[in-house]
Amino acid sequence: MFVKRALSAAEEKKAADTLNQDRVHTFRRMIVRAGRIGISGHERPDGDCIGSCLGLFNYIKDNYPDKQVEVNLQPIPDKFLFLKNSDRICSEPREIPPYDLYIALDCSEPERMGEFYGYFEQAGETICIDHHFTNEGFGDLAFIEPEASSTCEILVGLMEESRISQACAEALYTGIVHDTGVFKHTNTSRRTLEMAGLLLDKGVNTEMIIDETFFKKTYLQNQILGRALIESILLLDGRMIFSVISRKDMDFYGIDSADLDGIIDQLRVTEKVECALLMHEIERGTYKVSMRSKDKVDVSEIALSFGGGGHKKAAGCTMYGAKRDIIMNIAEQVELQLSGKDEEP
Ligand code: 5GP
Ligand code: MN
Repeated sequence: MFVKRALSAAEEKKAADTLNQDRVHTFRRMIVRAGRIGISGHERPDGDCIGSCLGLFNYIKDNYPDKQVEVNLQPIPDKFLFLKNSDRICSEPREIPPYDLYIALDCSEPERMGEFYGYFEQAGETICIDHHFTNEGFGDLAFIEPEASSTCEILVGLMEESRISQACAEALYTGIVHDTGVFKHTNTSRRTLEMAGLLLDKGVNTEMIIDETFFKKTYLQNQILGRALIESILLLDGRMIFSVISRKDMDFYGIDSADLDGIIDQLRVTEKVECALLMHEIERGTYKVSMRSKDKVDVSEIALSFGGGGHKKAAGCTMYGAKRDIIMNIAEQVELQLSGKDEEP
Protein backbone atom coordinates (compact mmCIF):
# COMPACT_ATOMS: atom_id res chain seq x y z
CA MET A 1 0.00 0.00 0.00
CA PHE A 2 1.29 3.47 -0.87
CA VAL A 3 1.72 5.63 2.22
CA LYS A 4 2.01 9.34 1.57
CA ARG A 5 5.04 10.77 3.32
CA ALA A 6 4.31 13.82 5.48
CA LEU A 7 5.93 16.97 4.12
CA SER A 8 8.77 18.44 6.14
CA ALA A 9 8.37 22.02 7.39
CA ALA A 10 10.79 23.20 4.70
CA GLU A 11 8.87 21.39 1.97
CA GLU A 12 5.60 22.81 3.25
CA LYS A 13 7.00 26.33 3.19
CA LYS A 14 8.31 25.81 -0.35
CA ALA A 15 4.90 24.55 -1.49
CA ALA A 16 3.16 27.53 0.15
CA ASP A 17 5.66 29.96 -1.44
CA THR A 18 5.07 28.40 -4.86
CA LEU A 19 1.31 28.65 -4.42
CA ASN A 20 1.62 32.27 -3.36
CA GLN A 21 3.88 33.05 -6.32
CA ASP A 22 1.24 31.52 -8.60
CA ARG A 23 -1.38 33.76 -7.05
CA VAL A 24 0.83 36.83 -7.42
CA HIS A 25 1.30 35.99 -11.10
CA THR A 26 -2.45 35.50 -11.49
CA PHE A 27 -2.99 38.95 -9.94
CA ARG A 28 -0.58 40.55 -12.39
CA ARG A 29 -2.07 38.64 -15.36
CA MET A 30 -5.60 39.75 -14.43
CA ILE A 31 -4.43 43.37 -14.58
CA VAL A 32 -2.63 42.82 -17.89
CA ARG A 33 -5.66 41.28 -19.60
CA ALA A 34 -8.23 43.84 -18.36
CA GLY A 35 -9.01 46.92 -20.47
CA ARG A 36 -11.18 48.78 -17.94
CA ILE A 37 -10.28 48.49 -14.30
CA GLY A 38 -12.19 49.87 -11.32
CA ILE A 39 -10.82 50.25 -7.79
CA SER A 40 -12.70 50.94 -4.54
CA GLY A 41 -11.89 51.11 -0.86
CA HIS A 42 -14.30 51.39 2.05
CA GLU A 43 -16.75 54.09 3.03
CA ARG A 44 -15.35 57.03 5.02
CA PRO A 45 -11.92 56.31 3.53
CA ASP A 46 -8.91 56.42 5.87
CA GLY A 47 -5.18 56.65 5.13
CA ASP A 48 -4.67 52.98 4.28
CA CYS A 49 -7.76 52.89 2.11
CA ILE A 50 -6.80 56.06 0.21
CA GLY A 51 -3.11 55.08 -0.01
CA SER A 52 -3.89 51.62 -1.36
CA CYS A 53 -6.41 52.90 -3.93
CA LEU A 54 -4.11 55.64 -5.24
CA GLY A 55 -1.00 53.45 -4.96
CA LEU A 56 -2.58 50.79 -7.16
CA PHE A 57 -4.07 53.40 -9.51
CA ASN A 58 -0.65 55.02 -10.02
CA TYR A 59 1.04 51.64 -10.44
CA ILE A 60 -1.35 50.63 -13.22
CA LYS A 61 -1.28 54.08 -14.89
CA ASP A 62 2.53 54.26 -14.78
CA ASN A 63 3.05 50.80 -16.22
CA TYR A 64 0.01 50.32 -18.47
CA PRO A 65 -0.84 53.82 -19.72
CA ASP A 66 -3.35 52.46 -22.26
CA LYS A 67 -5.65 51.00 -19.64
CA GLN A 68 -8.68 52.87 -18.44
CA VAL A 69 -8.52 52.88 -14.64
CA GLU A 70 -10.89 54.57 -12.22
CA VAL A 71 -10.87 54.92 -8.44
CA ASN A 72 -14.41 55.07 -7.05
CA LEU A 73 -14.24 56.35 -3.51
CA GLN A 74 -16.09 58.75 -1.24
CA PRO A 75 -14.45 62.20 -1.00
CA ILE A 76 -11.11 62.13 0.81
CA PRO A 77 -9.84 64.59 3.46
CA ASP A 78 -7.88 67.57 2.07
CA LYS A 79 -4.66 66.45 3.77
CA PHE A 80 -4.38 63.57 1.27
CA LEU A 81 -4.80 65.74 -1.80
CA PHE A 82 -1.01 65.98 -2.30
CA LEU A 83 -1.04 62.35 -3.45
CA LYS A 84 -0.68 62.10 -7.21
CA ASN A 85 -3.98 61.62 -9.07
CA SER A 86 -6.11 62.20 -5.96
CA ASP A 87 -7.96 64.72 -8.14
CA ARG A 88 -9.03 61.88 -10.44
CA ILE A 89 -11.00 60.02 -7.76
CA CYS A 90 -14.65 59.60 -8.81
CA SER A 91 -16.95 60.12 -5.84
CA GLU A 92 -20.32 60.15 -7.61
CA PRO A 93 -21.90 56.83 -8.62
CA ARG A 94 -22.65 56.84 -12.38
CA GLU A 95 -24.41 54.75 -15.00
CA ILE A 96 -21.45 53.01 -16.65
CA PRO A 97 -20.83 49.71 -18.45
CA PRO A 98 -19.37 46.91 -16.33
CA TYR A 99 -15.63 46.98 -15.66
CA ASP A 100 -13.47 44.10 -16.92
CA LEU A 101 -11.80 43.92 -13.54
CA TYR A 102 -12.78 45.38 -10.16
CA ILE A 103 -10.44 45.48 -7.18
CA ALA A 104 -11.70 45.97 -3.60
CA LEU A 105 -9.04 47.30 -1.22
CA ASP A 106 -9.10 47.42 2.60
CA CYS A 107 -12.75 46.23 2.65
CA SER A 108 -13.50 43.54 5.22
CA GLU A 109 -16.71 42.71 3.40
CA PRO A 110 -18.06 43.69 -0.02
CA GLU A 111 -20.78 45.93 1.46
CA ARG A 112 -18.03 48.20 2.84
CA MET A 113 -17.66 49.55 -0.73
CA GLY A 114 -20.99 51.31 -0.09
CA GLU A 115 -22.60 52.82 -3.16
CA PHE A 116 -19.87 51.39 -5.42
CA TYR A 117 -20.54 47.76 -4.51
CA GLY A 118 -22.69 47.38 -7.66
CA TYR A 119 -19.61 47.97 -9.86
CA PHE A 120 -17.84 45.09 -8.10
CA GLU A 121 -20.85 42.78 -8.48
CA GLN A 122 -21.16 43.48 -12.19
CA ALA A 123 -17.46 43.33 -13.12
CA GLY A 124 -16.09 40.55 -15.35
CA GLU A 125 -13.44 39.57 -12.80
CA THR A 126 -12.92 40.62 -9.19
CA ILE A 127 -10.06 40.78 -6.70
CA CYS A 128 -10.12 41.51 -2.97
CA ILE A 129 -7.00 42.62 -1.07
CA ASP A 130 -7.35 43.19 2.66
CA HIS A 131 -5.81 42.69 6.09
CA HIS A 132 -8.89 42.52 8.35
CA PHE A 133 -8.99 39.13 10.05
CA THR A 134 -12.79 39.27 9.96
CA ASN A 135 -12.60 39.14 6.15
CA GLU A 136 -13.78 35.72 5.00
CA GLY A 137 -12.51 36.33 1.47
CA PHE A 138 -14.63 37.30 -1.53
CA GLY A 139 -14.11 37.81 -5.25
CA ASP A 140 -12.43 35.58 -7.86
CA LEU A 141 -9.01 36.10 -6.28
CA ALA A 142 -8.51 37.16 -2.66
CA PHE A 143 -5.38 38.17 -0.76
CA ILE A 144 -6.39 38.29 2.89
CA GLU A 145 -3.40 38.71 5.18
CA PRO A 146 -4.46 39.47 8.77
CA GLU A 147 -0.84 39.59 9.89
CA ALA A 148 -0.12 42.47 7.49
CA SER A 149 -0.13 45.94 9.05
CA SER A 150 -2.11 47.41 6.20
CA THR A 151 -3.54 46.79 2.77
CA CYS A 152 -0.70 48.95 1.42
CA GLU A 153 1.86 46.52 2.88
CA ILE A 154 0.20 43.62 1.03
CA LEU A 155 0.15 45.63 -2.20
CA VAL A 156 3.90 46.32 -2.06
CA GLY A 157 4.42 42.54 -2.00
CA LEU A 158 2.18 42.09 -5.03
CA MET A 159 3.91 44.73 -7.16
CA GLU A 160 7.12 44.41 -9.12
CA GLU A 161 9.65 46.52 -7.22
CA SER A 162 11.26 47.95 -10.34
CA ARG A 163 7.86 49.19 -11.55
CA ILE A 164 6.99 51.17 -8.40
CA SER A 165 7.29 54.91 -9.08
CA GLN A 166 7.86 57.60 -6.47
CA ALA A 167 4.20 58.66 -6.69
CA CYS A 168 3.01 55.10 -6.17
CA ALA A 169 5.46 54.66 -3.27
CA GLU A 170 4.24 57.86 -1.59
CA ALA A 171 0.64 56.65 -1.58
CA LEU A 172 1.56 53.21 -0.22
CA TYR A 173 3.90 54.67 2.42
CA THR A 174 1.08 56.98 3.57
CA GLY A 175 -1.20 53.98 4.06
CA ILE A 176 1.38 52.06 6.09
CA VAL A 177 2.09 55.13 8.25
CA HIS A 178 -1.60 55.55 9.05
CA ASP A 179 -2.53 51.95 9.86
CA THR A 180 0.55 51.46 12.03
CA GLY A 181 0.15 54.82 13.84
CA VAL A 182 3.59 55.79 12.46
CA PHE A 183 5.11 52.33 12.95
CA LYS A 184 3.96 52.19 16.58
CA HIS A 185 1.09 49.69 16.74
CA THR A 186 1.80 46.02 17.34
CA ASN A 187 0.81 45.27 13.75
CA THR A 188 4.22 46.67 12.73
CA SER A 189 6.37 43.69 11.81
CA ARG A 190 9.78 43.14 10.29
CA ARG A 191 8.07 42.82 6.91
CA THR A 192 6.24 46.13 7.46
CA LEU A 193 9.54 47.90 7.99
CA GLU A 194 11.16 46.11 5.06
CA MET A 195 8.32 47.15 2.76
CA ALA A 196 8.49 50.72 4.11
CA GLY A 197 12.26 50.65 3.47
CA LEU A 198 11.70 49.56 -0.11
CA LEU A 199 9.33 52.51 -0.57
CA LEU A 200 11.81 54.91 1.05
CA ASP A 201 14.31 53.96 -1.65
CA LYS A 202 11.87 55.36 -4.20
CA GLY A 203 12.38 58.85 -2.78
CA VAL A 204 9.39 59.17 -0.44
CA ASN A 205 9.32 62.40 1.60
CA THR A 206 8.66 60.72 4.94
CA GLU A 207 8.76 63.78 7.17
CA MET A 208 6.23 65.66 5.06
CA ILE A 209 3.88 62.66 4.86
CA ILE A 210 4.00 61.96 8.60
CA ASP A 211 3.68 65.60 9.68
CA GLU A 212 1.13 66.73 7.12
CA THR A 213 -1.16 63.72 7.08
CA PHE A 214 -0.81 62.22 10.54
CA PHE A 215 0.12 64.82 13.15
CA LYS A 216 -1.03 68.14 11.71
CA LYS A 217 -4.29 69.46 13.14
CA THR A 218 -6.38 72.46 12.18
CA TYR A 219 -7.38 74.83 14.96
CA LEU A 220 -10.93 73.43 14.90
CA GLN A 221 -9.68 69.84 15.02
CA ASN A 222 -7.68 70.73 18.13
CA GLN A 223 -10.74 72.37 19.66
CA ILE A 224 -12.94 69.34 19.18
CA LEU A 225 -10.12 67.10 20.47
CA GLY A 226 -9.99 69.25 23.61
CA ARG A 227 -13.75 69.09 24.05
CA ALA A 228 -13.88 65.34 23.58
CA LEU A 229 -11.14 64.88 26.20
CA ILE A 230 -12.71 67.27 28.71
CA GLU A 231 -16.09 65.61 28.37
CA SER A 232 -14.76 62.05 28.44
CA ILE A 233 -16.02 59.76 31.19
CA LEU A 234 -14.39 56.79 32.89
CA LEU A 235 -16.31 53.58 33.46
CA LEU A 236 -15.57 50.14 34.90
CA ASP A 237 -13.29 51.44 37.62
CA GLY A 238 -11.25 53.48 35.15
CA ARG A 239 -10.65 50.61 32.72
CA MET A 240 -12.94 52.00 30.06
CA ILE A 241 -13.26 55.54 28.76
CA PHE A 242 -15.79 57.06 26.41
CA SER A 243 -16.61 60.33 24.80
CA VAL A 244 -19.55 61.30 22.59
CA ILE A 245 -19.62 64.03 19.96
CA SER A 246 -23.12 65.14 19.07
CA ARG A 247 -24.40 66.22 15.67
CA LYS A 248 -25.05 69.64 17.19
CA ASP A 249 -21.39 70.04 18.21
CA MET A 250 -20.14 68.87 14.83
CA ASP A 251 -22.40 71.37 13.08
CA PHE A 252 -21.36 74.11 15.51
CA TYR A 253 -17.67 73.59 14.69
CA GLY A 254 -18.42 72.89 11.02
CA ILE A 255 -16.48 69.61 11.05
CA ASP A 256 -17.00 66.11 9.73
CA SER A 257 -15.92 62.59 10.69
CA ALA A 258 -12.43 62.98 9.25
CA ASP A 259 -11.76 65.88 11.65
CA LEU A 260 -12.01 63.47 14.59
CA ASP A 261 -8.88 61.48 13.66
CA GLY A 262 -6.59 60.99 16.63
CA ILE A 263 -9.16 61.62 19.37
CA ILE A 264 -9.70 57.92 20.03
CA ASP A 265 -5.91 57.35 20.22
CA GLN A 266 -5.59 60.04 22.88
CA LEU A 267 -8.43 58.47 24.89
CA ARG A 268 -6.78 55.04 24.60
CA VAL A 269 -3.48 56.10 26.15
CA THR A 270 -5.21 57.20 29.37
CA GLU A 271 -3.53 55.46 32.30
CA LYS A 272 -5.29 52.26 33.41
CA VAL A 273 -7.73 52.33 30.47
CA GLU A 274 -8.07 49.02 28.62
CA CYS A 275 -10.75 50.06 26.16
CA ALA A 276 -11.59 53.45 24.65
CA LEU A 277 -14.84 54.31 22.92
CA LEU A 278 -15.60 57.34 20.77
CA MET A 279 -19.05 57.89 19.30
CA HIS A 280 -20.06 60.60 16.92
CA GLU A 281 -23.54 61.24 15.71
CA ILE A 282 -23.89 60.89 11.95
CA GLU A 283 -27.54 61.83 12.08
CA ARG A 284 -30.07 61.98 14.89
CA GLY A 285 -29.97 58.69 16.76
CA THR A 286 -27.31 57.15 14.48
CA TYR A 287 -23.79 56.89 15.86
CA LYS A 288 -20.50 55.91 14.26
CA VAL A 289 -18.64 54.03 16.96
CA SER A 290 -14.85 53.69 17.16
CA MET A 291 -13.15 51.41 19.66
CA ARG A 292 -9.52 50.93 20.60
CA SER A 293 -7.95 48.63 23.17
CA LYS A 294 -4.61 47.94 24.82
CA ASP A 295 -4.11 44.22 25.54
CA LYS A 296 -7.05 42.72 27.34
CA VAL A 297 -10.06 43.52 25.19
CA ASP A 298 -10.76 42.25 21.68
CA VAL A 299 -12.78 45.15 20.30
CA SER A 300 -13.36 43.46 16.92
CA GLU A 301 -15.49 40.88 18.73
CA ILE A 302 -17.65 43.65 20.17
CA ALA A 303 -17.87 45.54 16.87
CA LEU A 304 -18.77 42.33 15.04
CA SER A 305 -21.61 41.63 17.45
CA PHE A 306 -23.10 45.00 16.46
CA GLY A 307 -22.69 44.43 12.71
CA GLY A 308 -19.30 46.14 12.33
CA GLY A 309 -15.77 44.79 12.22
CA GLY A 310 -12.09 45.65 12.32
CA HIS A 311 -9.05 44.41 14.20
CA LYS A 312 -8.49 43.15 17.76
CA LYS A 313 -7.20 46.53 18.92
CA ALA A 314 -9.08 48.86 16.56
CA ALA A 315 -12.62 48.31 15.40
CA GLY A 316 -15.84 50.12 14.67
CA CYS A 317 -19.52 49.85 13.86
CA THR A 318 -22.62 51.95 13.36
CA MET A 319 -25.22 51.87 16.14
CA TYR A 320 -28.71 53.26 16.51
CA GLY A 321 -30.72 54.53 19.47
CA ALA A 322 -30.10 56.42 22.69
CA LYS A 323 -26.41 57.05 23.40
CA ARG A 324 -26.77 55.81 26.98
CA ASP A 325 -28.09 52.45 25.80
CA ILE A 326 -25.31 52.12 23.23
CA ILE A 327 -22.61 52.87 25.80
CA MET A 328 -24.11 50.44 28.32
CA ASN A 329 -24.39 47.67 25.71
CA ILE A 330 -20.74 48.06 24.80
CA ALA A 331 -19.57 48.47 28.41
CA GLU A 332 -21.31 45.24 29.31
CA GLN A 333 -19.26 43.34 26.73
CA VAL A 334 -16.04 45.08 27.75
CA GLU A 335 -16.70 44.16 31.37
CA LEU A 336 -17.38 40.56 30.44
CA GLN A 337 -14.12 40.30 28.53
CA LEU A 338 -12.17 41.99 31.32
CA SER A 339 -13.61 39.71 34.01
CA GLY A 340 -12.65 36.71 31.86
CA LYS A 341 -9.10 38.02 31.62
CA ASP A 342 -8.93 38.81 35.32
CA GLU A 343 -9.64 35.18 36.08
CA GLU A 344 -6.79 33.98 33.85
CA PRO A 345 -3.80 32.70 35.83
P1 5GP B 1 -12.13 53.50 12.89
O1 5GP B 1 -12.47 53.44 14.32
O2 5GP B 1 -10.80 54.15 12.65
O3 5GP B 1 -13.25 54.04 12.03
O4 5GP B 1 -11.97 51.98 12.40
C1 5GP B 1 -11.10 51.09 13.02
C2 5GP B 1 -11.09 49.79 12.24
O5 5GP B 1 -12.37 49.21 12.27
C3 5GP B 1 -10.72 49.94 10.77
O6 5GP B 1 -9.95 48.84 10.39
C4 5GP B 1 -12.05 49.93 10.06
O7 5GP B 1 -11.94 49.41 8.77
C5 5GP B 1 -12.90 49.05 10.96
N1 5GP B 1 -14.28 49.51 10.97
C6 5GP B 1 -14.74 50.69 11.43
N2 5GP B 1 -16.07 50.80 11.27
C7 5GP B 1 -16.48 49.63 10.69
C8 5GP B 1 -17.76 49.12 10.27
O8 5GP B 1 -18.80 49.77 10.40
N3 5GP B 1 -17.75 47.88 9.71
C9 5GP B 1 -16.62 47.14 9.56
N4 5GP B 1 -16.70 45.94 9.00
N5 5GP B 1 -15.40 47.58 9.95
C10 5GP B 1 -15.32 48.82 10.51
MN1 MN C 1 -6.39 49.17 6.61
